[in-house]
Amino acid sequence: MHMPDEGRHRAVYLTEFRKPLSPGTAETPEPRGEQVLIRVVGAGICHSDVHVWEGVWSSTGAPRRLPHIQSHEIAGVVERVGERVPDAFREGTGVLVYAWQWEHDDMFTAEGLTNLSDSPLVPGIHTDGGFQEYYLVPHYRYLINASGISDLAAAAPLTCGGLTTYRAVRKAAPYVRPDDYVAVIGLGGLGAYAAQYIRKFCPQANLIGIDMKESAVDFVSSITPLDSHIVPHDGDVLSSIRAETHGSGLRAVIDLVGSGTLSTYIRALAKGGIYVLVGLMGSGKTDTISPGSTVLLERNISGSYVGTLAEQHEVVALARKGVIDYRKPVTARMPLDDAYAGLQALHSGQVLGRQVVTP
Ligand SMILES: [Zn+2]
Repeated sequence: MHMPDEGRHRAVYLTEFRKPLSPGTAETPEPRGEQVLIRVVGAGICHSDVHVWEGVWSSTGAPRRLPHIQSHEIAGVVERVGERVPDAFREGTGVLVYAWQWEHDDMFTAEGLTNLSDSPLVPGIHTDGGFQEYYLVPHYRYLINASGISDLAAAAPLTCGGLTTYRAVRKAAPYVRPDDYVAVIGLGGLGAYAAQYIRKFCPQANLIGIDMKESAVDFVSSITPLDSHIVPHDGDVLSSIRAETHGSGLRAVIDLVGSGTLSTYIRALAKGGIYVLVGLMGSGKTDTISPGSTVLLERNISGSYVGTLAEQHEVVALARKGVIDYRKPVTARMPLDDAYAGLQALHSGQVLGRQVVTP
């Protein structure tokens, strides 16, 4: 590991879309004012990183420029602080970085809906992120103290995967009554968190896992027992759900896929149920639903986008309390130089859980 005093540190760059990441160095900045320099301990690899790598969001300023340093799931240790940073974040403090940062305060951030800011400025997506030895946090307000989190690197994905699923399940939970059926569609890394939250926040519900891959069902089952699961190959998934729910349908759906799933699974939603859309894999695609049955059955459809800063604090608290297992969803750790291999493994669908780069 290079000390930041040398003035530069190791980083991995996206220099050209859809091309291998390049190793290099970055200038180690000196934190000023509210800024905090952290030594990166864990930087998670998320599906959004694949989208950024492909360049599909570049027209929207994600990333703002190349070369670019990826990863928005960042955990680290405070190295140096600006002169206006409170003592709570003194040198050596383990922290998680809230990724859904913003450039200008607005009505949404003022209300605490920080995930809906009109000027998102997300490390690893818009600006430089965690695939480097040191990361400059623009403001200490984005830091969550990670004391009591023994495996800091494994906690990095709590800032996207663990947060996104938390907000989604909290949205669905008020609709779910004892003995209702709740389905999670997509049992990869996100599913590993979502299933745990459903167990905690809908403890008397029946949890159904749905995934095209038997291995994904096994993966999530090894972390949280499912009441039942469906692997919809070319069978009729709707009749499978009818059978599993004894005709009552699903009271809540957490859709972590979002690609051609809404038009199918909305039809399995019970009266008064809620469908929470989380996955962005189908962005750009169109799903068709029936307005008639949505009205007559009072079905609720909700989008859920990452999570707020307040929810990020709650997620870390749940991990600290041991209410959720944040280590088991992490299935691979790799050095900085292997970040590209991890990205490719995710791109080609070989990854079941979350991967973390440990610079
Ligand atoms: Zn993400």
